[in-house]
Amino acid sequence: MLNRRIAEILRSGQPDESLLVQGWVRTKRELKGFAFIEINDGSSLANLQVVINEDVPEYETTIKNLNTGAAVEVAGVLVASQGKGQRIELKAEKLKLYGEADPETYPLQKKRHSFEFLRTIGHLRSRTNSFGAVFRVRNACSAAIHQFFQERGFLWVHTPIITASDCEGAGELFNVTSLDLKNIPRTENQAIDYSQDFFGKPTYLTVSGQLEAEVMAMAFGNVYTFGPTFRAENSNTSRHLAEFWMVEPEMAFCDLEGDMDLAEAFLKYIFEYVLAKCPEDMEFFNQRIDNSVLATAENIINNQFERLTYTDAIKLLEKADVKFDYPVSWGLDLQSEHERYLAEQLFKKPVIVTDYPAQIKAFYMRLSDDEKTVRAMDILAPKIGEIIGGSQREERLDVLERRIIAQGMKPEDLWWYLDLRRYGTVPHAGFGLGFERLVQFMTGMGNIRDVIPFPRTPQNAEF
Ligand code: ATP
Ligand code: MN
Repeated sequence: MLNRRIAEILRSGQPDESLLVQGWVRTKRELKGFAFIEINDGSSLANLQVVINEDVPEYETTIKNLNTGAAVEVAGVLVASQGKGQRIELKAEKLKLYGEADPETYPLQKKRHSFEFLRTIGHLRSRTNSFGAVFRVRNACSAAIHQFFQERGFLWVHTPIITASDCEGAGELFNVTSLDLKNIPRTENQAIDYSQDFFGKPTYLTVSGQLEAEVMAMAFGNVYTFGPTFRAENSNTSRHLAEFWMVEPEMAFCDLEGDMDLAEAFLKYIFEYVLAKCPEDMEFFNQRIDNSVLATAENIINNQFERLTYTDAIKLLEKADVKFDYPVSWGLDLQSEHERYLAEQLFKKPVIVTDYPAQIKAFYMRLSDDEKTVRAMDILAPKIGEIIGGSQREERLDVLERRIIAQGMKPEDLWWYLDLRRYGTVPHAGFGLGFERLVQFMTGMGNIRDVIPFPRTPQNAEF
C-alpha cells in the first residue's frame, strides 16, 4: 500500500483511496464506539484526522495508548469528512502503535507553551505547530537560495570551517586547538607555544567564508558559500547566535551597483519562493506570531529598495524628530535603532545604505576617490535592521596593502589574499546574508534562538 505524506494527502487525496500514513498523534478524542485522532508527520501544519471504529481489530488494545506524542502507523481508506475543518479524513482499517508517550510525563500536552519553555525541550519542540512551520520555512529559504544562484550559474563553494585568518579582525573568535589545556606548552617568554598545536599556529572557527570565496571567484567568476559561521559574541540578544549560517555570494567583474542589484533580486526571489511553497505556514505566522509578516513580504517583493548614501542617511537621522539612545554623527556606525528608523518609519521599505566611512568598515572594502568612504552597502529591513552587508572589494594591490597596515594587520599574514591582486586582479563584489536573520524576518519570530533547530548561545549548548 502507498505510504503517503500528509501534506500531499490533504492537498490532493480523493475519497476511496487506500493508503498508509505514519506520524505522531497530536490529539485524541474518544467517543462511544469510535475515536478521532489527529496525526502529524511534519509535512504540513495541518493534521490528518483519522476515524477509528471499535471494530478495527487493534482498537481494544491500542486506543488507550494512542496519546499525544505517540508514534503510529495507520492503514485505511480516505473518506469525505462529515465534520467541519477538513475536506477529507482517513477511516482506519489497521493500526500499529510504535512508541507510546506517557501523558503523565510527555511535556507537549495540548495547550500553548511559551517559546522560553519550549527552548528547554529543544529535542521535542519541533513537534509543535510553531516550530514545524519555522523549520519548513527555513528549509524553503535554503532551497530558494540554492535555486536562485544555481539558475544564474553561480558555483556553490565549500569554504573551510577551521581557519587561521581572522577575516573581520572582529576578535570574537573561537579558538580551535588540540593542545592539552591542563598542560599548555609555553615558549621561553611564557607565550602559548602554538608550534606544538595541531596546525602549528593559532586557528579558529571561521567568522566568514568571504576571503576564500574571493579566491574561488577569481577562477569561477560567480560563486557563493552557504555554511556555518561562528562568533564568540558574548551578547545575549535576540539577534545573535554563536553558531549561525551565512550566505556569501562573490562576483568577479562586478561593482557595487551590480552587487546591490543582485542582493535586491535575491531577497525578492526568496520571499516569492517561500510564499508560493509555504502559504499555510506563512498564514500561520501572520495570524499567530506577527500580523505584519505577509504585508512585509509583499512590501519586499513589490517595492524597489531605497538606495542612499551613508552621508545622506546621517543627514536624515540628524533631522529626525525622534530621540535616539545612541548619538548620530558622521563617522559613527549606525545602531539598530537608526537602521530601524530609516527602514520602518522613514521609507517604510528596505533601504540600502552605501558608501560608509572607511574607518568603521573592513580593510577589504574598496576605497573611493574621496579617500574617506568605502564602497560598502548594508540592506536595512523593517523590523530587523541590517540583513545584508556587502561591498565592492579593493582590487588594487597598493591600496589594499595600505589599508591592511592602517588597520593594524600584517600584509604577510594575508599573502595569498594579496596574490589575488597580483595576478589577474579584477573589480569584484559580494555580500553576506545572515541566514537566521532572514528566517526571523520571514516568519516574524522575535528571537533568533527559535529559528535554528539547535541554538548555540552563551552558556547554552544543550541538545
Ligand atoms: P551585527 O551588527 O548585527 O552584530 P555584524 O555587523 O557583526 O552584525 P557582519 O559581520 O556584517 O555582521 O555579518 C554578516 C551578516 O551575518 C549580518 O548582516 C547578519 O545578518 C549576520 N550576523 C552577524 N552576526 C550574527 C550572529 N551572531 N548571529 C546571527 N547572525 C549574525
Ligand atoms: Mn556583530
